[in-house]
Amino acid sequence: MTSLTHGRHYLAIPGPSVMPDRVLQAMHRAAPNIYTGELVEMTATIVPDLKAVAKTAHNVAMYIGNGHAAWEAALFNTLQAGDEILVLVTGLFGNGWSVMATAMGVTSHILDFGRDATIDPEAVAKALGENAGIKAVLMVQTDTSTSVKNDVAAVRAVMDGAGHKALLMVDCIACLGCDDFQMDAWGVDVMVAGCQKGLMVPPGMSFVFYNDKADAVRGENGCASAYWDWRPRTDPELFYHHWCGTAPTHHLYGLRTALDMIGEEGLENVLDRHAVLARAVWAACEAWGQGGPVRLNIAEPALRSNAVTTVHIGAPFGTRLREWSSAQAGLTLGIGLGMGTEEDPNSDGVFRIGHMGHVSGQMIMGVLGTMQAGFDAIGVPYGEGALDAAAKVIAKG
Ligand SMILES: *Cc1c(COP(=O)(O)O)cnc(C)c1O
Repeated sequence: MTSLTHGRHYLAIPGPSVMPDRVLQAMHRAAPNIYTGELVEMTATIVPDLKAVAKTAHNVAMYIGNGHAAWEAALFNTLQAGDEILVLVTGLFGNGWSVMATAMGVTSHILDFGRDATIDPEAVAKALGENAGIKAVLMVQTDTSTSVKNDVAAVRAVMDGAGHKALLMVDCIACLGCDDFQMDAWGVDVMVAGCQKGLMVPPGMSFVFYNDKADAVRGENGCASAYWDWRPRTDPELFYHHWCGTAPTHHLYGLRTALDMIGEEGLENVLDRHAVLARAVWAACEAWGQGGPVRLNIAEPALRSNAVTTVHIGAPFGTRLREWSSAQAGLTLGIGLGMGTEEDPNSDGVFRIGHMGHVSGQMIMGVLGTMQAGFDAIGVPYGEGALDAAAKVIAKG
């Protein structure tokens, strides 16, 4: 068999995402002065641009760390051992955040909505009504394991309806810059994000956005960790307080360039691009599913994320498809994550397509065409017309 991997490899997993050459080139430089000059001035421009992407006029603290770091930081600034929280779980990542809260002595009440459904507002209202002591409600906007997109404003409405004073804390790590998010308009108190998904920068920086209500809680409780404390990072006396130490020098150059690229394209255009590309993926999957086992995990289009798509194909074909496309065609698809069942404990029948960040129409057509070649190669039947359907979506734009 002739190997077809010798062009540019495409890592189509839901993070880290494809990094623009411009971002990589911006990072390829000698170490800058970390006390004065360009780096300090550049950081001051990054802060407002990050807030613009989150659609907030409030605060952002930056961390050297991955998404888990932002999870921990958000928790340390808002909660204390003995506090109770309500966690709305729609996949692996809600549970992951809860595990970190539990480790710091917080009691986590979990409402689990399953792996192919969204949050039920009535269940949230009931849980809040039964426990006035809940300090925070945690949710994930797009759960990267199931690819469900939850309605953040609907959860806020339920909290307001119940007159509950808990903080609303949202994980947008998968989807900031891909799915629309409106921190202030939706009444979100704390939001966490990472740099390596929609923001197109190599993993290593993360962000906690927070409003004055959340900061007042930080003020009352104090923060048990000097490192995670968001106050000096937001309002530093000295530049190094932004980072509680040395700045992530090269990441800042990369992030500056990524934010420039988002600004040049226009945030709303970035979001629209993700929406069209996601619809192309779904159209192909739906057509394949007419004649074979391919099935989107989230049936309702309005509940699907524009950043990532979770697909069922039946064990062991998810794993086979990933192995074939990576070994034979230069495409790496995402593993099934947190989707194991008794019959398929390792999620071999599930895979994910990352379509977040620096992704174009031709890249998505390439992914879909390669997937169909893979179905032929590994012997999975499929319905006709999938690539035509995707092309029509791209043509309409
Ligand atoms: C990727 C991701 C995380 C974890 O981020 P890391 O950088 O791997 O720590 C958390 N939540 C969501 C929704 C994610 O997509």
